Amino acid sequence: MADPSFDSLQCEEECLKFLADVKWKDGFRCRKCGNTHYCAGRKPYSRRCTRCKTEESPLAHTFFHHCHLDLPRAFRLVCLVIRNPGITTAELSEKLQIRRMTCWKLKKKVLECLHTGKLLEYFPGGTKPSGE
Ligand SMILES: [Zn+2]
Repeated sequence: MADPSFDSLQCEEECLKFLADVKWKDGFRCRKCGNTHYCAGRKPYSRRCTRCKTEESPLAHTFFHHCHLDLPRAFRLVCLVIRNPGITTAELSEKLQIRRMTCWKLKKKVLECLHTGKLLEYFPGGTKPSGE
């Protein structure tokens, strides 16, 4: 399996930049009005539609939206699960120093996303588990 490069991201900003790069790799398009012109938003790496002024963060409509975890650790968790879908909650919790309940919830979400292919858009290094 290809080794995704994103788990080397060390800080919140690098993660946001990564998500922004992937999200808008084919260019920006406002979800509200379809306009393709934007200016910088108020938050780091957010983009703001020049027509209707709607601001979109790199997190919106991604796996990490509403994720109550700092992004670098959330990225690492996703990497670990993609590479080894059989990893246990206890292992994740120990490796990342995240509460087990949080690990359990996120792992479940990652696996769901892997099945639907929703995560692959953001994490091209992942592959779908076979046989299901
Ligand atoms: Zn717009």
